Amino acid sequence: MRWGEGMQDEARVDVAYERFVAARREELLSRIANAAARAGRSASEVTLLAVSKTVGMEGVRAAYAAGYRAFGENRPQELKRKVSACRTDPVLAGLRFDMIGNLQKNKINQVLGNATLVHSVSSVVLADAVSRRALARELVVPCLLEVNVSGEASKSGFVPSDVPQAVDQIMGMGGLAPLGLMTMAPAGDKNAARACFCGLRELREELIVRTGKELPVLSCGMSGDFEIAVEEGSTLVRLGRIVFDPTYEDV
Ligand SMILES: *Cc1c(COP(=O)(O)O)cnc(C)c1O
Repeated sequence: MRWGEGMQDEARVDVAYERFVAARREELLSRIANAAARAGRSASEVTLLAVSKTVGMEGVRAAYAAGYRAFGENRPQELKRKVSACRTDPVLAGLRFDMIGNLQKNKINQVLGNATLVHSVSSVVLADAVSRRALARELVVPCLLEVNVSGEASKSGFVPSDVPQAVDQIMGMGGLAPLGLMTMAPAGDKNAARACFCGLRELREELIVRTGKELPVLSCGMSGDFEIAVEEGSTLVRLGRIVFDPTYEDV
């Protein structure tokens, strides 16, 4: 593209923002590495997913320039839109987008073939619907079971004690490949967050014994609690505001 109309304004705004996103990424990687080290883990075990739901393609481009290659979206339509935009762009074509938000049955087809990993399989009924659509398209969809470890009424996900049986059922469906577990901790309560992440890790250990599968992914930790999540065994943190919002402040 030639340097000229349109490009110029956008480029000027972006320089400062790109610098912020890049500096913030370095900070986040070192905080993740420190948290991992405190738990005797290696930082290489932890994937940093940039949750791009509040930004447009300029935000994704800034994040790409900073080094991010994996993104999360919580709305099927927006995920599909961004994946399509990336596929037509030679630079962004290989980026990964995960579906992290609540999935309604009538939106499943927008996610299939577009999401690399579906974090939000929150019931056997939903799993069955996803699996049927996947099989119809000859796909096997990598997924996580979303677990409501904290038991908050506002949160979706499996009751922890229902998960072992659900995993057996889901593995039998054929269209889904469960790779692990996902949870969201109660906001603003660090002790409750730690208990929640610890509960998720213990549940995975129980499932590994029961199923003999590896279940390598523990998706937990957001802007306000990712260091605790890494200390408790998270292999994938989903960070939104702290990645993209210059006004975000730690509490
Ligand atoms: C928005 C969102 C995140 C990121 O939250 P932040 O607090 O902005 O880091 C993570 N997981 C899910 C499921 C989300 O919807």
